[in-house]
Amino acid sequence: MNPLSSTIELVPAVVPAPDQLPFFEELTTPPPRPVRPRLRLQPPLLADLTPRQRKAVTHGDGPLLIVAGAGTGKTTVLTRRIAWLIAEKRARPSEILALTFTEKAAAEMQERVDRLVPYGYMDSVISTFHAFGDRLLRDHALEAGLSDRSTVLSRPEQVIFLREHLFELPLDRYRPLGDPTRFLGALATLFSRARDEDVTPSRYETAARELAEIAAESDDDALKEEAAEQAELAAAYVVYERLMRAADRIDFGDQVGLALRLLRDHPAILAGERGRYRHILVDEFQDTNHAQFELVKLLAGGPSANVTVVGDDDQSIYRFRGAALSNILGFRAAYPRAASVVLIENFRSRQTILDAAHRLIEHNDPDRLEAKEGIDKRLRAKSAFRRPEPVGGAIELLGFATGSDEADAIAERIAASINDGRPAGDHAVLVRGNRDADPFLRSLNMRRIPWRFSGTAGLYQQPEVRVLVSFLRAVADATDSVSCYDLATSEIFGLAAEEVTRALNAASRRRMSLEAALREASAHPETAPFGRQALEVVQRLLASIDRHRSMSSERTTGELLYHFMTSSGWLGRLMREADDTGDERVQNVARFFEIVRRQSALLRDDRLPFLVEQLDTLIGAGDDPSTAEVDVDSGDAVHVLTYHRAKGLEFPMVFMVGLVEDRFPSRDRRDALALPASLGRDAPADGDHHLSEERRLFYVGMTRAAEELVLSWAVDYGGGRARRMSQFVHEALDLPPATPTATLRPSAIERLARNARAAAPARTEGSHAVGLGDRQLTLSFGQINDYLECPARYRYAHMIRIPTPASHQMAYGRALHAAVQGFHRRQMRNEPMSLDELYAELDANWESVGFLTREHEEARRRAARDALARFWQEQQTDPARPAAVEQEFAVVLGRDRVRGRYDRVDVDADGRVSITDYKSSDVRDPATAARRARESLQLGIYALAWERQHGKPPDELSLHFLESGLVGRSAASDRRLDRAQARVVAVGEGIRAGNFEATPAVNRCGFCPFREICPDAVR
Ligand code: SF4
Repeated sequence: MNPLSSTIELVPAVVPAPDQLPFFEELTTPPPRPVRPRLRLQPPLLADLTPRQRKAVTHGDGPLLIVAGAGTGKTTVLTRRIAWLIAEKRARPSEILALTFTEKAAAEMQERVDRLVPYGYMDSVISTFHAFGDRLLRDHALEAGLSDRSTVLSRPEQVIFLREHLFELPLDRYRPLGDPTRFLGALATLFSRARDEDVTPSRYETAARELAEIAAESDDDALKEEAAEQAELAAAYVVYERLMRAADRIDFGDQVGLALRLLRDHPAILAGERGRYRHILVDEFQDTNHAQFELVKLLAGGPSANVTVVGDDDQSIYRFRGAALSNILGFRAAYPRAASVVLIENFRSRQTILDAAHRLIEHNDPDRLEAKEGIDKRLRAKSAFRRPEPVGGAIELLGFATGSDEADAIAERIAASINDGRPAGDHAVLVRGNRDADPFLRSLNMRRIPWRFSGTAGLYQQPEVRVLVSFLRAVADATDSVSCYDLATSEIFGLAAEEVTRALNAASRRRMSLEAALREASAHPETAPFGRQALEVVQRLLASIDRHRSMSSERTTGELLYHFMTSSGWLGRLMREADDTGDERVQNVARFFEIVRRQSALLRDDRLPFLVEQLDTLIGAGDDPSTAEVDVDSGDAVHVLTYHRAKGLEFPMVFMVGLVEDRFPSRDRRDALALPASLGRDAPADGDHHLSEERRLFYVGMTRAAEELVLSWAVDYGGGRARRMSQFVHEALDLPPATPTATLRPSAIERLARNARAAAPARTEGSHAVGLGDRQLTLSFGQINDYLECPARYRYAHMIRIPTPASHQMAYGRALHAAVQGFHRRQMRNEPMSLDELYAELDANWESVGFLTREHEEARRRAARDALARFWQEQQTDPARPAAVEQEFAVVLGRDRVRGRYDRVDVDADGRVSITDYKSSDVRDPATAARRARESLQLGIYALAWERQHGKPPDELSLHFLESGLVGRSAASDRRLDRAQARVVAVGEGIRAGNFEATPAVNRCGFCPFREICPDAVR
């Protein structure tokens, strides 16, 4: 399997063929410049669009602002516009750059464009801002002052980096010696803000100096204090940047900030990039920060540039991440001649809901496009609904005495609606904060209604993740009684809390740790505070701790975790649960494994104590990753979501709950450290800005509802004070101002309900995985191969995404591949690489994971060096230079999309094309090498992809076995291509039909990473 193969993404149903553009040859060759406008419309492409959508899609040259309200078909317009530009030959696919924010959004846009423009091209750059900036930096690493191996640090890793270098930063008040790490998270946020605002360290220094000069001439002590603070922060920012460059690290903000600097400082690079893109499109423009818009302006060049932005100022909800509302409100300032199209036909909600949402959002005037531009943004409902509007209207307001009453009533309403024939998945409960979900989950549980929760934070608090953190801490530290308690009472060991508490009390009386007390109890059962059954569990717990503690000196943390999960049987239980009730718990575990993997990679020595320390730093610095993504199509269950998670989704019936003051709108929590006022582009975060942002969030919530919207609140959520209904409800429903409510004492029932909160809500059985319907799949060769090997393995690996331990085979293959690719990249730039540099490339990419012992690892590394030495020698006498290395492709084969990467492409003087895939597997005789090349499905798929892209198959397909230096060569016959296509189609159909039947076999199961948990495994 190619170790670089990507993961699966499931996408919505395939759009029927009429929407697709016909293939025409000319697109494979550059159109003549300048392009003459040809408004020959493609009827199928525009036929189902509204007049306004069509106007947006067919806008000719020049800047364009598309104001796309909720549910007005924003993505449709953007993807059709890309297709239209190509069809009308206004740009070749490679001359289009489309930028968005998340990988998921970029993938969805790519899929939709693929369906419209099925040439099999990946030439259009559809990318996130960060990935685009990263690509620029890596392509011009030298000029950017980076190596091509620089590591990108996530926000938590940035905090760890700051911690490691804390005493190298010129800090005083922000490094109090009694609590030196107190400001780490705030510093990381401040530096990110600076990046978002396109503030370089030298600009920050200048601003701080100017502030100091003003303060020096003033009598204002507060100003003097602020100037001193800013001077310290500016100096820290300067050193932070220097340290990051020295360590060859960049942070997320750098991916855009440094790319900007690169383009500004190197006119030739800027000219090259400008010449490359004829049209730039930006999705979710309201979420761009200042630096991102600067990047767009720089790339597009000039006020008449072909830049199209799509957004809705009323849905701008990421101010806390640096989004600058001023970008969309001020688009016309940058592009005075911009055309604009306002999309107001809503294909989602009833008019009653849209009217109420508009009534609400008007309270944000005058800081809205509607007010600023004098446009009408009121949405008009265009959908037909099967059910009539309820007699009382599509919006219902419910008030309750207590929060528990509210949760029970909402669960009751959902139960009634399900009984009335609505699927559970048609209902969404929107909560403002992650913890607000608990009472609703409990009430749903009581009625045995299946649910799925997705929050913007809270991964570490999920029971299935918490137990893993406790396991790591308990194994790393025998005196950590809290973690030992958590582990003992977890669902894995299941000791009763009272019994463990008795042991804990005894332990604290004698100043012992809980683990020591449990050991004593185990050694002296006659005096133990447990019954016989509990004692057996205690012994099992201690044995597990002992076993993993002794393994921890040799195994990586990931391996340790994996062993714990499989040997305890818990992973198997989770997996069976995933079959019955959905897979978000497994996905949460997988996310945690990913965090452990990333953190391990940053450690010099991936051993448990260091990793636990690192994790504690992360958690201490406020790292709170989100839980599993929302998958509205997986399992029929009620969706309980935070508002930010709900953005972009829609549900027939939406419940917005807990609508009281101080909860929604929430209290303003400003950043602990702020940039000097002279550097902030948007107005400072005063109360009104926060209120406006909260109102937009409320608006986003309301516009998720298609048919019915229920707004609810309660007077008593505990805490001894009566709550007032949210002002947003008044505004949306045009109710008279709130009447003050007398202070209430918490009711007895509410107190009881709150006390019951100690028990985490357990999921009920009931939901089950559903088929994939008609959805288009995106598959890598690795996934196709997994499915062909064993459909059950495919399901475990790519659908449930069960984490697997890192394997040494993967680590070895990855490092070898990376070294060879590095060599070829240098070769393509005519920069020869010495053998020592090649070894250094190997070492830089080497991961110490999965090896049995250090000796094993060293033996493998020696083998890799031998292979590279042979490879390097061969290359010294080989005149061939690759035409492309690691070139990505994505083509539609049958109904599905196949993505991949050619390791190496060669084109000789006669134009003969050869595709080579490097293999790290051990093949030692030429006959086997040739047979493997002949039979390789991977090469067959690559040949198909090449044919789709270039109109004819490659002339030669090769496998290059690095360990022996043997090369197996084969041809791309028609028969081979047909066979490869048939297999891809069969895999797609099998997955869509939900056929995941295991195909066990001794050889297959022996190497399968799921053999410990697979009930069908042959052992
Ligand atoms: S253990 Fe065997 S049967 Fe089970 S998933 Fe793996 S290959 Fe398939």
